[in-house]
Amino acid sequence: MTTLHADTLAGLAARLARGECSSVELTRHFLARIAAHDDGLNAFISVLETRALAQAEAADRCRARGEAGPLTGLPIAHKDIFCARDTRTTCGSRMLESFVAPYDAAVVARLDAAGVVTLGKTNMDEFAMGSSNETSYFGPVRNPWDPSRVPGGSSGGSAAAVAAGLAPAATGTDTGGSIRQPAALTGLTGLKPTYGRVSRWGMVAFASSLDQAGTLTRSAEDAALLLSAMAGADARDSTSVEAEVPDYRAALETPPERLRIGVPRNFFDDGLEEAVAVTVREALAEFERQGAELVEVDLPNLPLSVPTYYVVAPAEASSNLSRFDGVRFGHRCEDPQDLLDLYERSRGEGFGAEVKRRIMTGTYVLSAGYYDAYYLKAQQVRQLITADFARAFEAVDLLMGPTTPTPAFELGAKTADPVQMYLNDIYTIGVNLAGLPGISIPCGEVTGLPVGLQIVAPHFGEPALLAAAHRYQQATDWHLRMPSAYA
Ligand code: GLN
Repeated sequence: MTTLHADTLAGLAARLARGECSSVELTRHFLARIAAHDDGLNAFISVLETRALAQAEAADRCRARGEAGPLTGLPIAHKDIFCARDTRTTCGSRMLESFVAPYDAAVVARLDAAGVVTLGKTNMDEFAMGSSNETSYFGPVRNPWDPSRVPGGSSGGSAAAVAAGLAPAATGTDTGGSIRQPAALTGLTGLKPTYGRVSRWGMVAFASSLDQAGTLTRSAEDAALLLSAMAGADARDSTSVEAEVPDYRAALETPPERLRIGVPRNFFDDGLEEAVAVTVREALAEFERQGAELVEVDLPNLPLSVPTYYVVAPAEASSNLSRFDGVRFGHRCEDPQDLLDLYERSRGEGFGAEVKRRIMTGTYVLSAGYYDAYYLKAQQVRQLITADFARAFEAVDLLMGPTTPTPAFELGAKTADPVQMYLNDIYTIGVNLAGLPGISIPCGEVTGLPVGLQIVAPHFGEPALLAAAHRYQQATDWHLRMPSAYA
């Protein structure tokens, strides 16, 4: 029988329902896993033992009363970008090192209401800016498949925690790939929902027109379970959408009869490592065996997505991060001489190098004289990229391709060259610019490292997206593999 820490949320829920274990026992098991293994991974910034055990006891009482729901008593971890009342929320930054959130993010509140147990808050790139989890003020996270390699970012702590069996699932956020990319690099299922599907209330803002909360899990079924609880309109986030929340788990069982899968030609361009291309093509062949039809499609403006993103995202970040000034929010320097000194030193000390780079770029592209040439132009190109996807979806149900150009790379390999780092997200960023839902599922290994298959659906196409991923996971077992050191 599967060990507790290798099991899925659905599997653990069944054990709880059968009375094989209690939520307190499950929670203690994962807290012990964190205590035993996190030193080597650095996946957690805060472990919330007291809060978790109190939640687990409440969940067990709820079950004893016969009131348990599908998520009652299941432990998860939250990326440290989500505010959780009375707990520290750092966003991976010195700026928020000692910030204690006075309220719960919508995602945290909804999952709490569904009965989940919060094990802790996971490490992340500072303010979610990064693709390797090396920009965190709290130090880099290591990949459980090979500790000399990165787990991806920015939700790298969530990914490492789930991949190593320190938590059965975790939340993440995806602005340009930060759920799908670390999921690919650590062998997990990473779901980025449609922009507006999940409320951003209480999620520290990076680039507000792109940010979206989602999940890192072992299976598409687990992603469906969590999304059903997380999704829905919220009056406090004006971009959250009123659309009805379907029963995502029920939708898993009804995949479309004859799936038409679009394979974007430029997802297989020169930048893609050959062994990754072969692995992804094998996964596409599996879908064909299941009766799907593969159609080559063109997304002509997709190569412009990385430069477009690196104008739009820093522009929004420069505005969002202005609140961290040592007065309203964040770190305050010692003995400020005057107001300017207070701003300069508080921000100078509180932010790391990558965040400063983004603030400078963002301020520049928004400044008078450059706005039209950069920001306005980027918004126009964003429309063209969105239109490319819309045109593709006139002919196909889903798009599929690689999530990342390579498997996990060595720590330090790309830190000296920001552009090399940015190019990691070449296949994921367009999806954010268009506001579409995407998922990465494990589809093979290259030299012992996981490879991710990315599936993209039209807006609010999560049911079809999850159903396709689930069907693939029923025919294969890549998603159930664990790194041997943590099995
Ligand atoms: N790697 C991208 C960046 O650094 C995406 C980050 C994200 O999705 N949060 O901006």
